[in-house]
Amino acid sequence: MLDKRQFYINGTWCDPIAGQDLDVIDPSTEEACAVISLGGEADTDMAVAAAKEALPGWMYSDPGERLDLVKRILEEYNARAEDMAQAISQEMGAPIDLARSSQVGAGTWHISNFIKAFEHIRFIEPLGNHAPDDRIIREAVGVCALITPWNWPMNQVTLKVIPALLAGCTMVLKPSEIAPLSSIVWTEVMDAAGTPKGVFNMVNGDGPGVGTQLSGHRDVDMVSFTGSTRAGIAISKNAAETLKRVHLELGGKGANLIFADADEKAVKRGVIHCFNNTGQSCNAPTRMLVEQSVYDQTVEQARELAEATQVGPASESGRHIGPAVSEAQFNKIQDLIQKGMDEGARLVAGGLGRPEGVNRGYFVRPTVFADVNNDMTIAREEIFGPVLSIIPFADEDEAVRIANDTEYGLTNYVQTQDGARRNRMARLLRSGMVEMNGKSRGAGAPFGGMKKSGNGREGGVWGIEDFLEVKAVSGWASDAE
Ligand code: NAD
Repeated sequence: MLDKRQFYINGTWCDPIAGQDLDVIDPSTEEACAVISLGGEADTDMAVAAAKEALPGWMYSDPGERLDLVKRILEEYNARAEDMAQAISQEMGAPIDLARSSQVGAGTWHISNFIKAFEHIRFIEPLGNHAPDDRIIREAVGVCALITPWNWPMNQVTLKVIPALLAGCTMVLKPSEIAPLSSIVWTEVMDAAGTPKGVFNMVNGDGPGVGTQLSGHRDVDMVSFTGSTRAGIAISKNAAETLKRVHLELGGKGANLIFADADEKAVKRGVIHCFNNTGQSCNAPTRMLVEQSVYDQTVEQARELAEATQVGPASESGRHIGPAVSEAQFNKIQDLIQKGMDEGARLVAGGLGRPEGVNRGYFVRPTVFADVNNDMTIAREEIFGPVLSIIPFADEDEAVRIANDTEYGLTNYVQTQDGARRNRMARLLRSGMVEMNGKSRGAGAPFGGMKKSGNGREGGVWGIEDFLEVKAVSGWASDAE
């Protein structure tokens, strides 16, 4: 079994001071594949102190130096792509082909997009001709705590570490304790790229431990968190005492509006997207809202697609879906499927238990419920499993009302050939993102939500700006520039 107990503080790998062992479980086999250490307060304090010490040197460095570092990180990341894919696949169960293409690929995509977006950041600029001695300076927020989840590990890590670095922040990364192996490879990448000591630190730990110590720490200026709404609330409360900046990327319960004039691939796209990564995506379109006239045929198509979805071990090549990440997640999905049946939704595919012939691993049956009412638990709670809820609607107004009747507001989806209707929907849907007719967001678009889906925007220019303070200066000596 791999021994991955060490942390990375002040440019060196070091043994925990107050660590507690935790096994990393491979969800395909239910067996431990590595042991890590959950840090304690002394470890957190040491990492924060290193980041604080490194801050002045890094925040006042030449932005070009920071960009060069990020370019070297991209090279090292690409060189370690296969190690990274193996780590992600083993720790959280993404099938190896998905891990190589989408999981690792998301990191490459974000780093490349940040390199491009960086050109547009103005660290100093005039306020305007009316105030010739005024300057607007953008400078690093300071020491950042970056707390990430297990479902898209490198997607989240690159969306936080890279813009923080470019902005001039120093940081402590606390990855999910359920999927820590990819962040250990990531830390090796940061080290090999020559990151100055103390700028990037990595401590493993859980929410009640290192997570809480970081969010309440007086020397941490900002927490950037991605994870559950529950933890986002706990972090906000704990951070309030020190009034640090809190950036939140939380859960979702996206609606996918299928109108009668949707293109012929729309339903297939929606089902595949819902089941992708075993349904463990915050932006999964888990509520399929279908116009009445095409409802029966859509339910039938979704049933066929769910029944054709293969489930299998993460280590195997192929287009199957892998296991749920953990026993707790498996049990949560089972409870919610049971609730769907108890509350009167019509089960049309999948259901309780593991897929036929499987008796080990946290594998779940791809499940479709029809005749779901938006008040049912399966329409309101984030299930984080391959479970689709289909809800009929009569007209546009009703579709918008149902879509917006949720605590969340991350991504909504619209399928219609009517361009004017698409543009109306894009305005009326209350979410940080609206994706229509299968067109995914372009390079550098901001990712983030409204309502209980959070308040931050990650990616592109917006993602870098989230790590910057704006300083207004008057009496600037232009002749001394
Ligand atoms: P989680 O909230 O349980 O854990 C996320 C991270 O927060 C982990 O590192 C965990 O150790 C830490 N944590 C937990 N409680 C904490 C606390 N009280 N204080 C500080 N840190 C704490 O979430 P998860 O199960 O790892 O991830 C799944 C959730 O993440 C889902 O709700 C999903 O929608 C959300 N998510 C959101 C986005 C987005 O960008 N909006 C992206 C991916 C995942």
